[in-house]
Amino acid sequence: MKHRIATRSSLFLLTAILAARAGAVPASEPASGPDLQRHQPQIDQIVSHISPQRIEGYIRKLVGFKTRHTMSDTVSDTEGIGAARRWIKAELERCGAADGGRLQVAFDSHISPVSARISKPTEVVNVVATLPGTQPASAARMYVVSGHYDSRNSDIMDASGAAPGANDDASGTAAVMEMACVMARHHFDATLVFMTVAGEEQGLLGATHWAEQASARKLDIAGMFTNDIIGSSHDEHGKIDNTQVRLFAEGLPVQKENSATVRTLVQTGGENDSLSRQLARAVKAAGERYVPGFKVNIIQRRDRYLRGGDHMPFLERGYAALRFTEPAEDFSHQHQDLRTENGKVYGDLPQFDDFDYIARVARVNAAALASLALAPAAPRQVQVRTAQLENDTALLWQPNAEPDLAGYRVVWRATDAPDWQGAQFVGKVTGYRVPLSKDNYYFGVQAVDQDGNVSPASYPVPLR
Ligand SMILES: [Zn+2]
Repeated sequence: MKHRIATRSSLFLLTAILAARAGAVPASEPASGPDLQRHQPQIDQIVSHISPQRIEGYIRKLVGFKTRHTMSDTVSDTEGIGAARRWIKAELERCGAADGGRLQVAFDSHISPVSARISKPTEVVNVVATLPGTQPASAARMYVVSGHYDSRNSDIMDASGAAPGANDDASGTAAVMEMACVMARHHFDATLVFMTVAGEEQGLLGATHWAEQASARKLDIAGMFTNDIIGSSHDEHGKIDNTQVRLFAEGLPVQKENSATVRTLVQTGGENDSLSRQLARAVKAAGERYVPGFKVNIIQRRDRYLRGGDHMPFLERGYAALRFTEPAEDFSHQHQDLRTENGKVYGDLPQFDDFDYIARVARVNAAALASLALAPAAPRQVQVRTAQLENDTALLWQPNAEPDLAGYRVVWRATDAPDWQGAQFVGKVTGYRVPLSKDNYYFGVQAVDQDGNVSPASYPVPLR
């Protein structure tokens, strides 16, 4: 197709050149187009409805099942993982019914064969609540948020001993349930999937099963985040930090052989512009805008040392996926038998959770999900022209299909900067020439709708 390349030869050009000469990063704000700083009233409403009291109620109920070990009792109505999953499903159905039953709640089950952490074939059941997108051009695009409802104590194979799992991961499960209940009353362009999964502790079994099916069906999962251990604002010395959450974001995907995408990232210095890093920037922007005073601390790695989580099966299938975790973990309250030693209490009990803190993390998640699901898709096939040596940067992309698209925004940053520093709204075009050198800056292109909802940035690959 023939691209329409717009060029601003006006004031922007002049200020950009002057700033670049002075060694500063030229930051230009849109002269026209939607107001990108405006809060969406719908997102403010969602954030304000997320309730620490309800989150506490969910966590205490989950802890009340005594253990939610993946191989625990499935028959009892009061104890074990079977009772837990039936209760989660019933709660989500109750919430969904409140607004015309648009929230589709279902079990997603498979039999996991014997493996290192599974001693007998075991039914692993995820509880999945889907809120279909309402814009035909966006409904196939999905965002997935998860927490794992299974738990464990010191012995990974102990299926009957107490394993309250109040933080790991009733906190994430409760946050996902609360988001589903609050957000089911709203409409989004894209589809949201609220998922509580099992088998995490036995080897990411539930999430892997769902991600595998999604990949086989070629589902368009534009972003996934897991919430795992988001329950406490206290570190192991009792110091409180309730002002931030860690967001783990992988750079280059781990693969046996580098794909063409990975090779291009390496060749062009785009290691920090993988799909997950672009998603993380979008999550940070939305989270910090709607939850003021709370920091989304992007950690530029897949996960903590010696640990893993339910975002990994998604990463391994090429999807953008992130992990939320509290700022400083206290390992005496994770994967521990309940006991007291020398006056110190071990075990993952609700008394070590901070419900206000969990609500804050849930608000960041919800603001990011809502913002992403209201925004257009990230622009496709973004390219940077490299046919000749020149000091301008010519960017090209394919047009978006959403009917409420207002246009595109070109963003840039210095090569050693973590986040975007300059931006220009460029209107409804499929190309733009920026008077800055592609050798000295990283660029991205975002899609913007008429309400000012902005997509994550797409990284331009070289067009020769
Ligand atoms: Zn966990």
